[in-house]
Amino acid sequence: MNYQTAADSLKDRVILVTGAGDGIGRQAAISYAAHGATVILLGRTVAKLEAVYDEIEALGYPQPAIIPLDMKGASKQNYLDMTDTIHDQFGRLDGVLHNASLLGVLSPFDQLGEDTYDEVMQVNVKAQFLLTQAIMPLIKKSEDGRIIFTSSTVGHDGRAFWGTYAISKFATEGMMQVLADELSETQVRVNAINPGGTRTGMRAKAYPGEDPKTLKTPADIMPLYLYLMGPESKDVNGQCIDAQPK
Ligand code: NDP
Repeated sequence: MNYQTAADSLKDRVILVTGAGDGIGRQAAISYAAHGATVILLGRTVAKLEAVYDEIEALGYPQPAIIPLDMKGASKQNYLDMTDTIHDQFGRLDGVLHNASLLGVLSPFDQLGEDTYDEVMQVNVKAQFLLTQAIMPLIKKSEDGRIIFTSSTVGHDGRAFWGTYAISKFATEGMMQVLADELSETQVRVNAINPGGTRTGMRAKAYPGEDPKTLKTPADIMPLYLYLMGPESKDVNGQCIDAQPK
């Protein structure tokens, strides 16, 4: 499908992007800013967030903000404090892109370590649960709230050796569906994106022998990210959509 969005589709919106320092999250933050949004860049590596901040400023888009946070160790209180900061600074929140994830270790099921399991489930599942709970009162006040989760092909078709990562993406799709159903009578729309194989550090780690030039770039898959974050998708709820359908 060819997703069309107006050049100013996100004008005056405030959008939080997790894992905004690199890969798909970095590109989504820049693309949302290019369409008029004030983006809040959340991530764990401040230098990367600052580089994205500088890039957005240099392009003349609305001034972004940075929230340095390691989602591995962040507590419920951290997310509540973050929400207070967003409320104090911007007075609103219109969208969240849950993008940050860890791949963990690809290995046979019986060799999956408990530490890796806990870390991947913490970052990929529990962190977005806590964050979403914290921002809920704020995003419900938006006239057009949007929450986008990030899944994967292995989030609906389990595959050998994808272990905790696949389990975490099934859980992500479950969270998205539960929330979408609960919020269906509100102005908030909740969906997920399966990016498909995309040229990033995570993909290179999962497929070290692959030629990255054969893959779509994060910029190539942005039309769906823009569509689901913008007003055009008001009738779409509870879906996991492939950014690169076969
Ligand atoms: P990258 O590894 O390139 O980027 C992930 C981002 O998440 C990085 O900015 C990283 O920060 C951040 N992050 C990781 N752990 C934490 C943490 N503990 N706290 C805060 N931020 C954290 O991944 P992609 O861009 O490839 O992936 C983006 C999303 O798309 C993920 O949810 C992934 O599962 C999904 N996906 C990607 C596919 C692909 O082919 N690329 C295919 C299917 C799904 P830092 O830069 O500091 O490491």
